[in-house]
Amino acid sequence: MTEKGIRVTIACESCGHFVDLIPLTKGQHANISKIEGDFRIEEIDLDYDYSVDAVEEVTAEVKEMRIDCQKCNNYIVLNEFPSHVY
Ligand SMILES: [Zn+2]
Repeated sequence: MTEKGIRVTIACESCGHFVDLIPLTKGQHANISKIEGDFRIEEIDLDYDYSVDAVEEVTAEVKEMRIDCQKCNNYIVLNEFPSHVY
């Protein structure tokens, strides 16, 4: 009996290279480091939102995440993350 989960496929349309992120253990956690070698997470930009009055209330929001294809150097930038994604 196979558990059905969610997979994330990162596919390069330039060279056809792709990686499936599939939970390998029971549960729903897939390891993003599995893409290394085929793709590379080049950078993750965070936005910090804080006021001078309340420094303890610093929140970081994900702004951009860039993934590079290691085969042909094409890349994709994921942006416009919802504001509740920290
Ligand atoms: Zn490629």
